[in-house]
Amino acid sequence: MAVKGKPDIAGISLRMEAIWTDAEERIILDIIRQIKKAGKITSTADYQINRLVEMGKSTEEVERILKEALGATWPEMFELYDEAAEWQYVRNKDVYEQVNGEFIPPEENEWLQQTSDAVKEQTKDELENLSRSYGFSVMMGARRVFMPFATYYQRYVDTAIMDIISGGFDYNSVIRRVVTQMTNSGLRFVDYATGYSSRADVAARRSILTGVAQITAEVNERNAEELGTDYFEVDWHPAARPDHQAWQGKVYSREELHSVCGLGSKTGLCGINCRHVYYPFVPGVSERMYTDEWLEEQNRKEAETKEWHGKKLNAYEQTQQQRKMETAMRAQREKVRGFQEAGVDNDEITIAKCKYQAQLDEYKQFSKKMGLPEQRERIYQDMRGRVAPSKETYRKYTKEMIRNADRDSREFRKYKNILGDDAGSLAQFRQMKYNEPEKWEQLKNKKDETLKQMSNSMMTNLKGALSDREVRIWYKAQDERIPEKIDKKLPIEQQARRAFELRNEYRTQARELMRNQKARAELDREHPNPTFEQILEHKKRKYGLSDEEAYKDIIRSSGTTNKKYDKIAGVEKG
Ligand SMILES: [Zn+2]
Repeated sequence: MAVKGKPDIAGISLRMEAIWTDAEERIILDIIRQIKKAGKITSTADYQINRLVEMGKSTEEVERILKEALGATWPEMFELYDEAAEWQYVRNKDVYEQVNGEFIPPEENEWLQQTSDAVKEQTKDELENLSRSYGFSVMMGARRVFMPFATYYQRYVDTAIMDIISGGFDYNSVIRRVVTQMTNSGLRFVDYATGYSSRADVAARRSILTGVAQITAEVNERNAEELGTDYFEVDWHPAARPDHQAWQGKVYSREELHSVCGLGSKTGLCGINCRHVYYPFVPGVSERMYTDEWLEEQNRKEAETKEWHGKKLNAYEQTQQQRKMETAMRAQREKVRGFQEAGVDNDEITIAKCKYQAQLDEYKQFSKKMGLPEQRERIYQDMRGRVAPSKETYRKYTKEMIRNADRDSREFRKYKNILGDDAGSLAQFRQMKYNEPEKWEQLKNKKDETLKQMSNSMMTNLKGALSDREVRIWYKAQDERIPEKIDKKLPIEQQARRAFELRNEYRTQARELMRNQKARAELDREHPNPTFEQILEHKKRKYGLSDEEAYKDIIRSSGTTNKKYDKIAGVEKG
């Protein structure tokens, strides 16, 4: 079939022709599949047959194609057709009664012309921009390949847009198909010359939605102009976001499309992620698709809530929750792959996989409870392949282990920094912590004892990693060794100054080790290290000591820690 295009963009016309032919083929295959399955012409098949005729196929041609594909005899075909013609809701009886046997030449096919013009209008700018940009590349598996836009990504998106606006297919099945195509081809990322990079599936989804909305709007404008109407009917779909739910399914003037439905704004009708479309409506002639009663009934049904983890969710909130879970699972899949690429401990990868499996289980449960179909393609669209663990592996980890996975991995790194190889493997560590209480107690004690013996120079990897209790254990052990570190041959004042310096040094080092650096900042502010003179003055005044006595007391007390703080930190008197 030839589509006459304006000669200035001949390239697009050629592409258009190929796209139309492809779209027809897919519609035909889908009609055949449905008739074979149902044994009759279904409502959807009827709609698609009408579309084929509108696209320029003659009714005879359609009949012949169906007969051949179905392997039917003529009497069988007549029966199939008669049944459809008598059907109450048939869209156009003529199609099945061979009244209009004429083929409409493309140049006289208004619908086809309109749509093609609108497509050309819409893709012109983008196509020129992108074909000029040398920076367009796609990821084919692990390889980056530079590709002419028009032959690859564009092909997917174009056919998708045409499938939707030809009316042959619905949004969801088309987007699902495109994402699968991309998955199979290994196309993962789309880079624009601007340096902006987007995941291929996300980019495709966005281009398709935007493309369809813009082309539909274009066609509608033309139709409305021809029909001489200023009114439009907005369509309806389930679980629309609340502000769209308020105006969907009704008739509006052109002005109201903007003022009521927010047409032209990012959050309004035909804005970002909006799936609503609108059609010209002739008051007094057109019949409304949805009655007010029906719309009210739907709103009432959609306001009904179902409970999930103590929260009451209405229809919109249910789908939002489902999207949120899908996003979380995609993030978890990315995390697993990130772990694998970074070569982290195997057990960390395994438990991350188990967390993903637990999320999947919850998703399944949620969808079932809400009565929503699972949309797993939204999870798998990242083309990361299988991430879920084997059943046997999954059984090894409890819910608690999965929930605490990141924290436990961090804790293990700390143990490893203190105990070295004695800490064992991460897998053993995790099992011990949750399933072997005696061994776990032993390991903890060993860690504490080793910690006491560590000098500051061995602890570079532990800065900002220790609990208050661990910091206190270390600090106390250091302080207790101060007296034995003092050279007793020195004059008593020198000894006191040395002890005091060590005490300050350990205090600062201990604060460095604290995991809670916010609390540390407060400590530095509220309790800064004192000067020697301050402490000397304090001792003399408070206890009435002489210089000599005060020096001795500084040496003595440098080896003891404040009992009150020991207790707060959970360190018993040792
Ligand atoms: Zn919307």
